[in-house]
Amino acid sequence: ISKPNSNAILSPDFKFEDMGIGGLGDEFSTIFRRAFASRVFPPGLVARMGIPHVKGMLLYGPPGTGKTLIARQIGKMLNARPPKVINGPEVLNKFVGQSEENIRKLFADAEAEYKEKGEESSLHIIIFDELDAVCKQRGSGAGGGTGVGDSVVNQLLSKLDGVDQLNNILLIGMTNRKDMIDDALLRPGRLEVHLEISLPDEPGRLEILKIHTSKMKTNGLLNPDVNLDELAGLTKNFSGAEINGLVKAAASFAFSRHTEVGQLAAVKQDVANMKINRSDFMNALTEVRPAYGVSEAELE
Ligand code: ATP
Repeated sequence: ISKPNSNAILSPDFKFEDMGIGGLGDEFSTIFRRAFASRVFPPGLVARMGIPHVKGMLLYGPPGTGKTLIARQIGKMLNARPPKVINGPEVLNKFVGQSEENIRKLFADAEAEYKEKGEESSLHIIIFDELDAVCKQRGSGAGGGTGVGDSVVNQLLSKLDGVDQLNNILLIGMTNRKDMIDDALLRPGRLEVHLEISLPDEPGRLEILKIHTSKMKTNGLLNPDVNLDELAGLTKNFSGAEINGLVKAAASFAFSRHTEVGQLAAVKQDVANMKINRSDFMNALTEVRPAYGVSEAELE
């Protein structure tokens, strides 16, 4: 299986922050490294130990916390093929056999390559977003009584169990509702590594703010009156996606402020003065509010 393309995973100082993902903490990196370290070793060694690589993981947590970002970066780090991304609701199809066929197709390329190249095959990543959508219906008779969800989960299980000898697959399931995921999918050998991604705490928010303002800063577009520590304090309950939204909104306030000079020529000249100010962030904060984790009292 092709080698990781960066030394990132090898370094004890490896940080997701350096890959543009903030707020994950050291524990996350430790678990991550342990799960994937086996992929760094020459093909065959793991087989000689008589253990398979980790071939499935579950990323769970509130929306917008960076799950998709992480799944894609894992792919890059492990030098995988561009991931196939599938979405739970999308896979469900009311026509008999079609959902199973959708799953079969997802694994087909990896299976074919493994047959041809064995351990020399590249790594195939399958990102399964909203995995809970196919689990909800399992055994519940929901979904119009079709049991479609049931058979999708069964098909996934048989694919995962079937890939025992197939070292070239990594299935990354994602969900906001871990409690909805079928236990059978979470057992060893299946989606066995479970990583929770929660809303970032204050130091985490600072990291994410730094990531999303780093270009502005290097290009001298961030007014020194912008204090990221202050903003990290003011963004309690914000997800990474909401922090990203906040920075974009602040930039849009700055753009609109600078167009107030009137004439187009003047606007163009004003570019030299273009800066994103603290006041732009304060305006943005009145617009961008966190969707999750806010108690009733805080909303008052
Ligand atoms: P969903 O559950 O809604 O699919 P998600 O958890 O997969 O959400 P992403 O789609 O990865 O979230 O995040 C959306 C965008 O928000 C990212 O592309 C990134 O710009 C920003 N973002 C989210 N989390 C982080 C983070 N931890 N660090 C930096 N940026 C982040």
